[in-house]
Amino acid sequence: MAYITLKDINKIYPNGFHAVHDFNLEIEKGELIVFVGSSGCGKSTTLRMIAGLEDISKGDFLINGQRANEWGPREREVAMVFQSYALYPQMSVYDNLAYSLTLQGVDEDVIDEKVKNTARILGLTDYLDRLPRALSGGQRQRVAVGRAIIRKVGIFLMDEPLSNLDAKQRVTMRSEITQIHRETGATTIYVTHDQTEAMTMADRIVVMKAGYIQQVGTPYELYFKPANVFVAGFIGEPPMNFVRGKLEGGKFRLGGKSLDLSVKLGNKAKSYEGKEIIFGFRPESIHLGEQKEGAYVLPAEVELTEMLGDNTNVYITMGEDKAILKVDPHDTPEVDSAITFSIPYESVYLFDGETEKVIE
Ligand code: ADP
Repeated sequence: MAYITLKDINKIYPNGFHAVHDFNLEIEKGELIVFVGSSGCGKSTTLRMIAGLEDISKGDFLINGQRANEWGPREREVAMVFQSYALYPQMSVYDNLAYSLTLQGVDEDVIDEKVKNTARILGLTDYLDRLPRALSGGQRQRVAVGRAIIRKVGIFLMDEPLSNLDAKQRVTMRSEITQIHRETGATTIYVTHDQTEAMTMADRIVVMKAGYIQQVGTPYELYFKPANVFVAGFIGEPPMNFVRGKLEGGKFRLGGKSLDLSVKLGNKAKSYEGKEIIFGFRPESIHLGEQKEGAYVLPAEVELTEMLGDNTNVYITMGEDKAILKVDPHDTPEVDSAITFSIPYESVYLFDGETEKVIE
C-alpha cells in the first residue's frame, strides 16, 4: 500500500479557476518526489492541498490508506519549508530549532539532544548561539529545514526552498537536502521550477503543465523516455531540438535532405503518411562528421558558437530550421562554416504533430 495516495485530485478556486486537474499519484514511504513545471502550473496548489492548507475540491487524498481530505495539517503529520525562511529573528538558532518541541511540552533534555543532533546533520553546531541575521542565506535555509525535520513528522513538504539563494549556495544546499533526506528517510515532496534541481534530487519527478500532470518518472525515464514534446523540451539543457514536418512517402525533409523515417516508425509509417510529425534530437546526442551506418547524416551552417569550457554550444541552421548542437570544445567549428553531423537512430524521438505525444 502506498503511503500517500492522490486520486483524481482537482482544485477549483472560489473564483472558478481550475488550477489542478485529475492529479493521480502514489507515493511510497521514504520517497523524494519533486513537482516541477513553469510558474503557475499548479505545483504549490497541489502541495498546499497535501499539507492541508488548501481544500481539495474533488478527489481522494489518502495517508496510509485512510481518507485524509478533511484532516488538518497536524493530523497529517506534515512539516513545510517555504521559500522565505520564516525564522524568529529575535531567537538564537538553538531556540528556533527547539521552538516547536518546547510548544509541545517536550522534556528539556530530549529537546537538547534533538537540537544538537539536528544541528549536527545540518552542519549548524557552531552557530547555535547566533541570531538568524548573523547567518548567511544558506545557513538560514538550513535552520528552516532543521525546524521542519526536528519534529520527526511523516511528510516533509518543501516549496521552492532554495529560490532565495545565489547559484552557488543553491548547488550546495541541493546536495545537502538530498543528504538529509538520505539520513532521515523522511517522505519528501519538493516543489521547484528548476529542472536541474528536479533531476539531481528526485527519486521520481512529476512534470506539470497548466494544471495537468504530463509525466511521472525517474530522472532517467524522463530524460530517455519523454512522453511528449513538453517533457522532452523541459528536461535537458540546452533543450531538445524539434523540427516539424510532414511524412511523405515515408520520408521527412530536413536541411535539404530526405530522411527515411521508416527505420524509426516501422509499421506505424503507414498511419502517419501525409501527417505532421515532430522530429526531436538532443544537442548532446549527435556526432560531428558522417557516421556511416545507423544514423541520419545532416548538413548545417554554423551561426554562432558558445564555448562553455566542458562543451561548446553550436547554433546551426538547416535551411529554414534551427537547432543547437553540443560538441567537445576542441571540435568547435568556425562561425559561418558548413558542417556535417550525425544523429544515431536511437537518439531520434518522433512525436505526433497533432497530440505532441511520443510515437513509440
Ligand atoms: P505554481 O506553484 O506551479 O507556480 P500555483 O499552484 O501557485 O502554481 O498556481 C496555479 C494557478 O492557480 C495559477 O494560475 C494561479 O494564478 C492560480 N491561483 C493560485 N492561488 C489562487 C487563488 N487563491 N485563487 C485563484 N487562483 C489561484
